[in-house]
Amino acid sequence: MSWPTWLPLRENLRSLSPYGAPQVPAQAFLNTNENPYPLSDQLQEAITQAVSHVAAQLNRYPNRDAEKLRNKLASYINGLSKTGFTFNNIWVANGSNEVIQSIFLAFGQRAALGFTPSYSMHALIARVSNTPWIDGSRNSDFSLNTQDAIAQIQQHKPTLTFITTPNNPTGGAISITQIAKIAEAVKDVGGLLIIDEAYAEFSEQVSAVTLISKNPHVVVIRTMSKAFAFAGARVGYLVADPKVIDAMMIVRLPYHLSSITQAVAEVALDFKDELLAGVGTLIESRDLMIDALASLGLRTVESEANFILFTGFSQDAKQLWSDLLKRGVLIRDVGLSGHLRVTIGNEAENTLFINALKELI
Ligand SMILES: *Cc1c(COP(=O)(O)O)cnc(C)c1O
Repeated sequence: MSWPTWLPLRENLRSLSPYGAPQVPAQAFLNTNENPYPLSDQLQEAITQAVSHVAAQLNRYPNRDAEKLRNKLASYINGLSKTGFTFNNIWVANGSNEVIQSIFLAFGQRAALGFTPSYSMHALIARVSNTPWIDGSRNSDFSLNTQDAIAQIQQHKPTLTFITTPNNPTGGAISITQIAKIAEAVKDVGGLLIIDEAYAEFSEQVSAVTLISKNPHVVVIRTMSKAFAFAGARVGYLVADPKVIDAMMIVRLPYHLSSITQAVAEVALDFKDELLAGVGTLIESRDLMIDALASLGLRTVESEANFILFTGFSQDAKQLWSDLLKRGVLIRDVGLSGHLRVTIGNEAENTLFINALKELI
């Protein structure tokens, strides 16, 4: 982008482009890893009631500390991972992207390291917050080699080391044993290990939240955008040692989480069993999609998330992406040559995608 000279934009921002996954009309939206299933009528009704209750108090600022919501999130995590967290271990914000930004504002003193390809927003938010970013590497099959990751941590001594597991955009996950080894190396260089578990509910792996009580430098980011079918509400959170939460309180904006957001997120957590049942359906559809892609002669990267990275088509990725869009199917070109990423949609969307692919490859 070119900027006019009168605009005193920060030097380090001049070369950047805004985050911009295309939001264009399509019949199948398989590009941003959203949950394809709308909330049930019952949950929609409960949300409407909660909002109507809040509407009567919108002249007042929200509860600044969102303690009720944080308590509910702690119980949710405790139920999944048999941990003993309280609201003191949880910080909640407008999507996990706000959580990531706050982590950089608080801790981005030296460099931050991530293992690419991974979630592009880690690097982008680092740059925006003026934190030097280091692109670490993965194996050529996109898996993460523990010894290699440790060597990169020892070399760069970052304040912040990011690991996304299951990884976006590739889909693979690492085990808790691997995370524990990497956590040791991060501790030795005096940094924090940030585990982005946006897709944890789709995976069988033990969550890194189980490491926190013995490793206060491990910080886990979660979101309600994917498994919870709640992307539009913008709710993300982190699970960490209470001292990490105290630091988040320093950098957060006052009243950052609206009364409406807090109220509707509390309601959604009351429906967690129903929402997690939808995750089971998506996992079954993921396995069907892997078979369907294989039967078209395509190769898929192992996935423990609600999306699949695939390769093995003859045309250029950009070309196939736009040919699919012409047929009403929006997927994601993640900038990896020869690869495209498809989110698991509902049955109709998945069928439309596979049928369009059949005609194109
Ligand atoms: C989708 C995603 C997020 C979620 O962002 P929200 O701001 O919570 O919607 C975070 N991390 C990764 C790796 C993601 O893929």
